[in-house]
Amino acid sequence: MRGKSHEEQSAASQSLAGTLDAVFWLDRPDTPQPVDALSGQTTADLVIVGAGFTGLWTALVAAEADPGRRIVVLEAETTAFGASGRNGGFCEASLTHGLANGLAHWPDELDTLLRLGDENLDDLLDTIDRHAIDCDAERTGRMDIAVEPWQVDELLQLAEASSRLGVDHAMLDTEAIRAEIDSPTYLAGLWHRTDAAMVDPARLAWGLQSAARSLGVVFHDNSPVCSIKRSGAGIEVQTDRGRVMADRAVVATNAYRRPLSRIRRHVIPVYDHVLMTEPLSTDQWSAIGWGNRQGLSDAGNQFHYYRRTADGRILWGGYDIIYHFGGRVGPSVEHHAPTTRRLAQSFFHTFPQLGGLRFTHRWSGPIASTTRFTCAWGTTHAGRVSWAAGYTGLGVGASRFGARVALDLVDGLTTERTQLQMVLRRPFPFPPEPARWLAVQATRAAIKRADRREGREGLWLRTLARFGIGLNS
Ligand SMILES: Cc1cc2nc3c(=O)[nH]c(=O)nc-3n(C[C@H](O)[C@H](O)[C@H](O)COP(=O)(O)OP(=O)(O)OC[C@H]3O[C@@H](n4cnc5c(N)ncnc54)[C@H](O)[C@@H]3O)c2cc1C
Repeated sequence: MRGKSHEEQSAASQSLAGTLDAVFWLDRPDTPQPVDALSGQTTADLVIVGAGFTGLWTALVAAEADPGRRIVVLEAETTAFGASGRNGGFCEASLTHGLANGLAHWPDELDTLLRLGDENLDDLLDTIDRHAIDCDAERTGRMDIAVEPWQVDELLQLAEASSRLGVDHAMLDTEAIRAEIDSPTYLAGLWHRTDAAMVDPARLAWGLQSAARSLGVVFHDNSPVCSIKRSGAGIEVQTDRGRVMADRAVVATNAYRRPLSRIRRHVIPVYDHVLMTEPLSTDQWSAIGWGNRQGLSDAGNQFHYYRRTADGRILWGGYDIIYHFGGRVGPSVEHHAPTTRRLAQSFFHTFPQLGGLRFTHRWSGPIASTTRFTCAWGTTHAGRVSWAAGYTGLGVGASRFGARVALDLVDGLTTERTQLQMVLRRPFPFPPEPARWLAVQATRAAIKRADRREGREGLWLRTLARFGIGLNS
């Protein structure tokens, strides 16, 4: 990102006066009331820990497959409290955090992963229709945008790989991209027209919860799980005020710490920040176009993602990824004024026509990142507990797939999904602290340098890449 002009800096400061520190998607009059916390002892066939997308899809898929199964979901806060209620709402087919990452890690199984990803997105959207979930889902596709000359070459290479792999796409030159969406910073765009839908993530999560409840799944909010132990032939899941004696459990806590510490070897929480504008006027929309409503992101290693909302706002997020020493998560690390300011400045750098527009909401959330940028899975407690975590910044769609794998694993099933190399092999682990913190900072600095040097990676990033390791959002 180039230096910011005085006008951009002053537009950014004005736009942030009066911005609420709140998640737009959760700041709604129709936010559901919390359900009762677990108190005392109960029994279940399957306990799910965490009511984000992974936990919700696990519950719904399991209940639809076996209506007699007694399923209990335990959530530390309320449904969609975590990343699932705070994200950009890009619901993508990719299970591999994009095509380039898929090619880098699983060239031999990429055809299968692409097919499974397309099926997953189709089935996810069918489920939204079947349960009449009102989450403003629109299959608009998404577009990568080159804002530096070196990024045009990268997009051309990606377009060539897309053609080879039969992935639907259109390459847009400067004139064509600016006819779609007008920004003076745009040089080219690669539009994947069918492989993404935009959704309202919180409404999707609440709708999944309601669908699962209609099938008999029992939810408990404000019920943090503190331990999971073997107990006879089953397991005992303990919360602060209650206990579930169960046959099996799926842990879907993603970036959060408890209750399985072994996930921390493979998954770290990195904070991603988001701004939401007020609704644009008709004139403001005319000034930028964007009639096809695609999800957009710029093509640098550090990138912004942005989209239109159903009520005419722009969500603008990304760029910085912030790791807090020891993997801290929670309110004490959620606000970072310099990052918010940088985001606002880059917004007006991209859309100078929108000077005067204000941001109504700012927030952040923990992205669960792995060194290969995709979900990891595992089992513990002699196979009675499975876990899925670490989608990095692309878990809205992939979490349905992650949930299905976690369910296959905990049910002891061998399926096409469980036989994937992506599932069988775990990502390279992160080192323990303090080396973890130092490695993340060194990698962030190296990524910034690469973006400044026309994408050319230095020794540190090249060495990591040789081991299939990286850092992303
Ligand atoms: C700012 C931001 C933007 C993003 N944008 C996108 C995007 O546009 N597209 C995309 O595909 N992905 C995006 N992502 C990633 C995506 O949101 C996540 O991958 C996805 O929501 C993960 O869902 P999950 O259910 O696994 O995790 P979460 O939604 O984090 O759910 C985990 C749940 O577990 C609960 N929990 C934790 N510990 C316990 C415990 N001990 N007991 C009980 N419950 C517990 C938490 O309270 C939480 O509700 C974004 C993420 C962030 C943070």
